[in-house]
Amino acid sequence: MAPYPCPNCQRLNHFEVRVCPSCAFTLGYDPASDGFLFLGDGATTWRDGRGDAHDVAVCANNNAHGVCNWLVATNDATPYCRACRHNRTIPDLTAATVPERWGKIEAAKRRLFHTLIKLGLPLETKAEEVDNIQGLAFDFLYDPSAEELGQAQVYTGHDGGIITLNLIEADDAAREQARSAMGEPYRTLLGHFRHEVGHHYWSRLVETNPQELAAFRAVFGDETIDYAQALADHYAGTGGKIWTDDYVSYYATSHPWEDFAETFAHYLHMVDTLATIGGVDMRMAPFPGPESNAGARVDFDPYTAPTDALTAQMVPYSFALNAVNRSMGQPDLYPFHLSPAITGKIDYVNRLVAKAAGRGNMADTHADAA
Ligand SMILES: [Zn+2]
Ligand SMILES: [Zn+2]
Ligand SMILES: [Zn+2]
Repeated sequence: MAPYPCPNCQRLNHFEVRVCPSCAFTLGYDPASDGFLFLGDGATTWRDGRGDAHDVAVCANNNAHGVCNWLVATNDATPYCRACRHNRTIPDLTAATVPERWGKIEAAKRRLFHTLIKLGLPLETKAEEVDNIQGLAFDFLYDPSAEELGQAQVYTGHDGGIITLNLIEADDAAREQARSAMGEPYRTLLGHFRHEVGHHYWSRLVETNPQELAAFRAVFGDETIDYAQALADHYAGTGGKIWTDDYVSYYATSHPWEDFAETFAHYLHMVDTLATIGGVDMRMAPFPGPESNAGARVDFDPYTAPTDALTAQMVPYSFALNAVNRSMGQPDLYPFHLSPAITGKIDYVNRLVAKAAGRGNMADTHADAA
C-alpha cells in the first residue's frame, strides 16, 4: 500500500502507527475515507467531497485490547472496524505469550483487509451470510500443545468461510522452523492470510457459479480429485509432483484448490508491493542485457491494473529489491519467478477480482498461457 500522511504535519507514516512520531498527534486509520484521521478524544468527524459529516470512533478492539488502530463509523451496527468485525474467536488472553502474538496477527490481518477493500471485493460477515453468499470469519486459537509438545493440535486453514489460525504462527522462531522444514522460500502471517482468504473467495465467487467453475478448471485443473489424499501424497512426497514453472510454489502443486489459493495470495503480494512502490514514486533507471528494461515506474493504479501492467513492473522491481535485501544480508524480498503459466493463472485471479468488484470484464491484455 502507499504510505499515508499524518493529517496534521503530513509526515508519511507506516500503516501500524498510532501516534505520529513527528508531531505526536494520535492517529487512527479510517477505511471509509482511506486515510489517517486525528483522534482528539478517541472520536472525530470528517467531511466527504459533498461536505457531509461522518462521525467515527476507535474500534472496540482498540478500546478493550489495544490491538487495532482502525476507526469505525459511530452509526455502524457494530463497534468493531471493517477488519475486526470478522473475528469469531479471539484467543485466551490470560496466557502470557498471547496478547503480543494476537497483536501481530491483527496487524497482518488489517493489511489483508486494506487490500481487499481497495480491490472492491465483497466482504460479508457470518451474520450477513445468506443463500449462496458465504460470510468470512476468523478463529484465532492459542494452542498450548504447539509449545509444550512441539506439535500443533490446531491447524491453520479454511473451512466454509472460517479461517483458523494457530497463534504459534506469530512466533518468529516457530514460523521459521516450519518454513525451513517445509522447504518454503516465504512464510509470513500476511502470506497465510492472503492464502486462506483465497480459499474463501474460491467458495464465494467460483464454486457456486457453474460458468466460473468451468473457467477455473480450464486454468487450474479438476478440483474434484480427492483433496485429503492429494495433501497426504504431497506431505509424504509421493504425489509425484515437482515444482515446475507452472506453479507459483511447491505447495501449489498439491491440489487445484491450493494452486488457486497460492496464486490468489500471489496476486495480492504483487498488487500491494506495487502500490507501495507507486505510492512513494520509486523509479528505476533502464538496465541492460538480455532481460533489459526500459526503466520501471508504477504510474497506474495497481488495484485495477491489467495483469501485464503488473508483471511488467514486478520483474525489474523484484530484481532491484532482491539486490537491496541481499545488500543487507536478508533473504530475497520476492523469492519467486513469474513464468508465462503462472502469469496466466494470476490473470485469471485478476479478472475474477475485477468481475467481483463490479469492474466488468477486463480488457484482453494478456494471452492466456496456462
Ligand atoms: Zn504528524
Ligand atoms: Zn479493529
Ligand atoms: Zn490452502
